[in-house]
Amino acid sequence: IIHGVSLYLEQKWYRKTIWMYLAVPVLLYAGERFLRFFRSRLYTVEICKVVIYPGNVVVLHMSKPASFDYKSGQYVFVQCPAVSKFEWHPFSITSSPRDDYISIHIRQLGDWTEGIKKAFSVVCQAPEAGISGLLRADAPNRTSLPELLIDGPYGSPAEDHRKYDVLLLVGLGIGATPFISILRDLLNNIIKQHEQAEGLSGSCSNSNVSSDHSFTCLNSEHGNRTPKNQRRTLNTKNAYFYWVTREQGSFDWFREIMNEIADSDIKGVIEMHNYLTSVYDEGDARSTLLTMIQTLNHAKNGVDIFSGTKLRTHFGRPKWKKVLSKIGTKHKNERIGVFYCGGPSLGKELSTLCHEFNQTG
Ligand SMILES: Cc1cc2nc3c(=O)[nH]c(=O)nc-3n(C[C@H](O)[C@H](O)[C@H](O)COP(=O)(O)OP(=O)(O)OC[C@H]3O[C@@H](n4cnc5c(N)ncnc54)[C@H](O)[C@@H]3O)c2cc1C
Repeated sequence: IIHGVSLYLEQKWYRKTIWMYLAVPVLLYAGERFLRFFRSRLYTVEICKVVIYPGNVVVLHMSKPASFDYKSGQYVFVQCPAVSKFEWHPFSITSSPRDDYISIHIRQLGDWTEGIKKAFSVVCQAPEAGISGLLRADAPNRTSLPELLIDGPYGSPAEDHRKYDVLLLVGLGIGATPFISILRDLLNNIIKQHEQAEGLSGSCSNSNVSSDHSFTCLNSEHGNRTPKNQRRTLNTKNAYFYWVTREQGSFDWFREIMNEIADSDIKGVIEMHNYLTSVYDEGDARSTLLTMIQTLNHAKNGVDIFSGTKLRTHFGRPKWKKVLSKIGTKHKNERIGVFYCGGPSLGKELSTLCHEFNQTG
């Protein structure tokens, strides 16, 4: 605009050409605003649960509109009129497509995300003394909760996880969010298979028909009742999830799903590794005492003192070459997909290692 001021001030109408330079960006901006306005009216959501975690993360659970069909790994744009009527921000969906709600985890970074925390903190109940360190609001308080609009779902590279037999999912801090949805999806699949197997053995023992016949009946009956987004099959045989975080408080964000996986994944389809980088590497003399206390507590109570989950927390950073080499050796002749969400430096390192391993076979 400054560059074109002289053109704008031109007296002769045929020399006023500034509109040519402004027309395209203004049209694009207006088009995007209109599109967003109409798309945001496609789905109406109601907030059913809010949890505010330490480490500045707000978790929002919303009702899932009947026609809202998404794949794990996808994201939505979110607008909260109580914070800003114009700003839309992208957030990965952390619920599984089979869940009857949509959830997102929002980490406070700047003005808008801070605004979200403030807006929801007002309506959340203070934690009861000694019971929970979290601020919560559940369905009964729903009327007083700020309104939320969503636009999506939108695709992301993480949704391609279905193409691979084996997954290596690497998340740094809040970058774990797209993978939580994938893990939930895998867990739901494991539970479904388990239930089917139990139903199958039940129907075998209760009837005279052959096991082959009862299997066919079970499948076809289930297939008819399953909603569209639940009918997609998962090819994943194994998934390795590496979550690297600096703050111990972050473990609260996904504790529930981690414990659920530890309890339900009897066949060991999902392998999870938590890394806390604010502590010296494992093997370092300075973290020996911590390791001893951690080992004792885990042996006695079955719970890790750092994460509060059933998984033992590792200290320092993973040795990525070792991790990739181990997975590559274990899953020869299988398609392995490596997915990463976090800062660019580790992304580069993982990409280089993947190329190296692809070339050497
Ligand atoms: C596809 C996608 C999925 C996302 N999923 C999540 C999620 O599940 N949970 C979550 O907490 N955040 C997620 N984000 C990031 C989130 O959208 C931003 O943190 C948010 O929009 C910041 O808004 P703000 O106005 O509060 O901060 P701003 O004032 O816009 O930014 C504050 C600081 O954060 C940095 N920043 C902002 N956005 C990003 C980004 N995308 N990557 C790296 N640095 C950034 C800025 O450079 C600045 O330093 C996602 C982003 C994308 C593109």
